[in-house]
Amino acid sequence: MKLNIRKYQQIQQQLREKNVTLVAVSKMQSVADIMVLYENGHRDFGENYVQELVSKFEQLPKDIRWHYIGHLQTNKVKYIAPFVHLVHGVDSEKLLIEINKQAARNNRVIDCLLQVFISKDENKFGFDEAELKTLMDKASIPGHFRNVRIKGLMGMASNTEDNDLIETEFKHLNELFVQHGASHTESIDFETLSMGMSADYMIAVNAGSNMVRIGSLIFGSRR
Ligand SMILES: *Cc1c(COP(=O)(O)O)cnc(C)c1O
Repeated sequence: MKLNIRKYQQIQQQLREKNVTLVAVSKMQSVADIMVLYENGHRDFGENYVQELVSKFEQLPKDIRWHYIGHLQTNKVKYIAPFVHLVHGVDSEKLLIEINKQAARNNRVIDCLLQVFISKDENKFGFDEAELKTLMDKASIPGHFRNVRIKGLMGMASNTEDNDLIETEFKHLNELFVQHGASHTESIDFETLSMGMSADYMIAVNAGSNMVRIGSLIFGSRR
C-alpha cells in the first residue's frame, strides 16, 4: 500500500462538512509523501517520535502545524517546544509542568490536550476521571500555568472489532469533554476533542469528535 490521494480527498471532504479537523498521521512516512499532501493544501500532520518529528520539522515548510500525538517523555519536551502546534497526549501533571517550563523558555504558550484513559487496553496511557478533575481544578487557578493552554481532551478506544464497545468509550469521553467544557480560564480554553483513527474515526465523529488522527488509511501501511 502507498499514499492514496483520492482517499485523502474523500476523507477531507467528508470531515470538512462536519467541521472536523483531520490530522494526517505521518509517522514513519517519507518527507516526499508529506510534501504531496502539503501540495494538496494539507497543513496538519501528526507524529509520535520526537527525533523523527524534529528532523521532519527541519526539512519541511514552516507553515506546517505539527501535532505531537504519542506518549511524550518529560526529558524530550525541550526538543519540540520551539515549534510544536498541539500536544495531544498529556498524560501526567509532571509532563504538563515541563511543557509549561519549556514553553516559557521559548516565549510561547503551547496548546495541549489531556489524554484520558477510556479503553480496556492496559498498555494505553491517560488520566482517569478523578485525576482529570484534580488537574483541571489546578489549571483553573489564575497564573498556575502561564505558558500552556489546555484546549481539550484526547483518547483512544480499545483495539477491538466490537464497534459497540468503541462507541461506548468514545461517548464516555465526549461526556467528560462536555462536562469540563464549561470551564474557560486563562489556561483552559476547551474546544478540541481528539478521538478517532483509521479504523474507528466515523464512530468517533458520530460520538462528538472534532479532530481525528488518521494515518494508514491515507498513507498506506507504515514501512
Ligand atoms: C499511529 C497513531 C494514529 C494513526 O493510526 P492509524 O491507524 O494509522 O490511522 C493515531 N493516533 C495515535 C496516537 C497514533 O499513535
